[in-house]
Amino acid sequence: MKKIPPLDLTRQYGAIATQINAAVAEVLASGRYIGGSAVDEFEEQFAAYLDTPHCVSCNSGTDALFLALRAFDIGPGHEVITTPFTFFATAETISAVGARPVFVDIYPQTFNLDLDGIEKAITPQTRAIIAVHIFGQPMDMTRLMAIARRHNLIVIEDCAQAAGAEWAAEKLGTIGHAGCFSFFPTKNLGAFGDGGALVTKDEAIASRVRRLKNHGQSGKYYSEQIGINSRLDALQAAILSVKLPFLDPWNDRRRALADRYYQFLSELPGVIPPRELLGGRCVWHQYTIQVSDRPRDEVAEGLQKRGIASMVYYPVSLHLQPVYQSLGYRSGQFPAVEKICDRVLSLPIFPELSDLEQEQVVRGLKDCLTKEF
Ligand SMILES: *Cc1c(COP(=O)(O)O)cnc(C)c1O
Repeated sequence: MKKIPPLDLTRQYGAIATQINAAVAEVLASGRYIGGSAVDEFEEQFAAYLDTPHCVSCNSGTDALFLALRAFDIGPGHEVITTPFTFFATAETISAVGARPVFVDIYPQTFNLDLDGIEKAITPQTRAIIAVHIFGQPMDMTRLMAIARRHNLIVIEDCAQAAGAEWAAEKLGTIGHAGCFSFFPTKNLGAFGDGGALVTKDEAIASRVRRLKNHGQSGKYYSEQIGINSRLDALQAAILSVKLPFLDPWNDRRRALADRYYQFLSELPGVIPPRELLGGRCVWHQYTIQVSDRPRDEVAEGLQKRGIASMVYYPVSLHLQPVYQSLGYRSGQFPAVEKICDRVLSLPIFPELSDLEQEQVVRGLKDCLTKEF
C-alpha cells in the first residue's frame, strides 16, 4: 500500500516547474535580488486579487502581525484579545510589542473565537482583536466588526491559513483594519522559503508599515523610529506571482476534497467532521476532525501503522503554554479549547491529493475506529 503523506510540495512544483524555473531564472539574470519590479508586481497582484488598495510584503506572517500591531501603536499597557487555538506566532507578536495577550475560548464547531467571549473580555485597556481564521475557516466577520465598532477596537485578521477564503463574498484580510498573510511553503499560497504580507484599506497604515519594515526609515539613511528589516525576497515574489493565478483552483480542489471527506465521514460513529460556517467560504488549510470516542493518539498511531500521515494541530492551548504561566491562566478555564486540543486530528488535504489516496485515508480511519489495535 502506498504511503499517504500529510502533504507533498513536490507535486505542486512538478505541475508548474517550467513557469517557476523561468521566473526564477529571470530574477537571477536581473541582478535585482532585494526589492525591484518582481516585488512591486507581486504586491500589486495580491492587492488586486483580494480587491483591496494596499499590500505591503514582508519576511513572514509573523512579521506581518508584528508590523500591524506596531503600525496601530499597540504596546505596553494594552491588551489584545485573541484565540488560544492558533499557531504560537499570533500571541507571540502581541507579547513582542509589549502588550498583553488576552485569551478567549473557542466554538467547538469552527475552532474559531467565541464572539460572546470576546465581548466579555473587553476592558478599558483593550485596543485590538486578532481574529485568526483557523484552518482556513472564516470567522463571522459581520458580528466581529460590529463588536469592534461598538468598543472602538482595531481588528487584525490573521489570514496565515486563509489565503483566498471569504466572508459574505469578501476576501478575508480585507474586512478588518489589516490582514496578515504568510507565504510559508505549506500555506495555501506558499513560497519556496519565508514570506509574508500585510494588506489594508488604510493608506496611512500601509505607509507606516512600509517605514517600519525598512528600519523605520522615511528616506534613505534617515530613520524616524525603531523598525526592523523585513523583506520579501525578489525570488520569492516572482515565485508567488507564478502561483497566485492557481490559488483559486487549488482552493477549489481543497473544497472538493473537504466535501468528499464529509460524505465519507458524516455517518461514521466516533468522529466529528468539520463543517463550513454558513456565510463563509472555507479554504481548508487543514481538514481537522474530532475523535470523540477513543484516545486521539491511538487513532493517529493506527493510521501511522497503515501508512497514513495525520497531524495534531494543536496539542496544547496557548493559555497553558509554559511561557504564558505568568499570565495566570489555569487549566479548566477554557473548557472548549482544552477538549478540542485532546480530540483534534488533521487528515491529509492538499490540492494534489488524489481521490484514490483520499479513499485510502478514509478506509484506514474506518479500520482504526472499528477494530481493536
Ligand atoms: C503560519 C502562521 C503564522 C506565522 O507565519 P510565518 O510566515 O510562519 O511567520 C501566524 N499565524 C498562523 C495562524 C499561522 O498558521
